Amino acid sequence: MHTTTKPIDAGSPWNVPEPEIQLSSITDTIETEILICGAGNAGMMAAISAGRLGAKTLVIEKNKRVGFIKPYMGAVNSKAQRAVGEKAMIDKEEIIKELVNYGNKCRNENPSFSPDYKPSRYVGSNKVDEKLIRVWAEESGAAFDFLADELSEYGIKHVSEYDIGDGHHGGFKAYPTQTKLVVPFLKGGPMAIIHAGIYVEERFFVKKIKSLGVRCMFNTPLIKVIKEGNRAVGVIARKKNGGYIRINASKGVLICTGGYVADAGLVAEVNPEATAISVLHYIQEGTVGDGIRAGIWAGGTKDKYPSAMVFDRGIARPGEKADLPIRRGGSFDSFFFGSQPFMKVNMDGKRFCNESVPYDVILNPLQNQKNGVACMIWDANYWKQVESFHTIGCSRMVPSKSRPRTYEGMGRFMNSGMLLMMRMKGYIKKARTLEGLAKKLRLPEEEFRATVERYNRMAAQGVDEDFGKQAKDLLPLGRPPYFGVTYGGWLLTTMDGLRINEDMQVMDAQGNAIGGLYAAGDVAGGFFADNFYPELVVGVAVGKTMTFARHAVLHMTGAI
Ligand SMILES: Cc1cc2nc3c(=O)[nH]c(=O)nc-3n(C[C@H](O)[C@H](O)[C@H](O)COP(=O)(O)OP(=O)(O)OC[C@H]3O[C@@H](n4cnc5c(N)ncnc54)[C@H](O)[C@@H]3O)c2cc1C
Repeated sequence: MHTTTKPIDAGSPWNVPEPEIQLSSITDTIETEILICGAGNAGMMAAISAGRLGAKTLVIEKNKRVGFIKPYMGAVNSKAQRAVGEKAMIDKEEIIKELVNYGNKCRNENPSFSPDYKPSRYVGSNKVDEKLIRVWAEESGAAFDFLADELSEYGIKHVSEYDIGDGHHGGFKAYPTQTKLVVPFLKGGPMAIIHAGIYVEERFFVKKIKSLGVRCMFNTPLIKVIKEGNRAVGVIARKKNGGYIRINASKGVLICTGGYVADAGLVAEVNPEATAISVLHYIQEGTVGDGIRAGIWAGGTKDKYPSAMVFDRGIARPGEKADLPIRRGGSFDSFFFGSQPFMKVNMDGKRFCNESVPYDVILNPLQNQKNGVACMIWDANYWKQVESFHTIGCSRMVPSKSRPRTYEGMGRFMNSGMLLMMRMKGYIKKARTLEGLAKKLRLPEEEFRATVERYNRMAAQGVDEDFGKQAKDLLPLGRPPYFGVTYGGWLLTTMDGLRINEDMQVMDAQGNAIGGLYAAGDVAGGFFADNFYPELVVGVAVGKTMTFARHAVLHMTGAI
């Protein structure tokens, strides 16, 4: 991926001096075999793997609790998928090519909305490291089988979300990669159901690592890596009550500190495209790039291409703009309904793209629209239309038909509640007439009315002459009341990071591994480029994060 042998550019925001820490301020030293920095998706998978191998393991985490464990875990041919059979099985070579190609395909190729569409072979942007994608395709099945076995004692089941409709969305091919860890209702309680789409309860992970003898220190951020020669031998971390601690790790240090999304200013500097279209932040707090900087100070290098996960689910009030400052929100501020392919218009009241393309790319045209935002419009028939859209992954609204049940799709009742709440907060607007809605959304009334009339005419004919939206999703707006919302990007995380090899070892600018130093998750790069998280390869971000974390541990212990 990188041909340069230059260290980080002098002008790069990553080029910051390594902090000097006086020996006298280091008050404690801890010995361990494996040190895991960061207790999110990657850190917890690594901790379970290391604990099971019987290695003396310590996890240090910056926050006072484990990071939230996201639920959509993309795997290839795990036991859960094999149990379903053909419908859930994935051709490894095909999905590797799909991911290698992804950026290019979304930008430049028109898949012509054919159900026969197949990804083209090796013509993609190839800004990613195919070797890493291969590791995910080869090892994710076994990695999630391992995790499922470990968590089965709590009644947790690993299930496949294979209900992907006809396997095409807006002409793009979808893959049944999504798997979930389902917590039994009686053990998780009602909140388990409500949170099922947001995170997997971390208390089961915590219980597990404790039972395996893994120690966890909270409020203890990684500051820098200690090296002897070209080998990382430990780290310096800050103690909860001030002062520093030295942690020696004889087998290896694994950095799992996530990306840098929580520093919006840094994102804007590294990746202005991502902030230019974003209005909402609902993120893992504390992810400000600490691990990336520590890896660079230790001699590592970083991806050149920025990459971020941005979904079309940030909502704004009429008249608001995208870009900094980005509003901080929680899970109930994320507008999951925003990924439904209803008609969308810019602030001039005009359509500007095919609304059926994947939700990670539909935002990119916003860069060229007024205020970096647009409006999504629906009417009283919306639920029937939602049923016909059959979106998948975290945009699924209609309960999934997958069995065993995955509890995917919030259903009509819960969705109506969310819409009502967003209306009460002043985001969603409702009106009996199109003119009334335009007024409330601050859209030019005449333009907006003309756009809806043209859209309805094309819907009646089943042909979108303007943007080629597939007929299945080209549904008329004709039954009042009408609804609309101003939307922009929800910036979730960054995905460009330290350059790693196929064993997750951090590499220097010449491509040499730094002994004893590993990175997994959003802190490490090479897997995604540009602002894409291929939504139709559901869960691939968590999937690669957890697969790579396990691989790193297996490698540093000599198990592979
Ligand atoms: C709301 C939300 C939902 C998502 N849902 C999905 C999904 O369902 N499927 C999917 O594929 N992707 C999803 N993603 C993306 C996914 O979470 C990431 O791509 C990735 O898997 C995160 O894992 P991680 O372990 O690298 O980082 P994180 O989970 O972000 O964990 C990093 C941890 O490191 C800690 N940390 C930071 N700095 C330090 C330091 N200096 N020292 C010690 N600890 C530190 C943080 O506090 C945090 O606990 C979601 C992202 C968000 C924000």
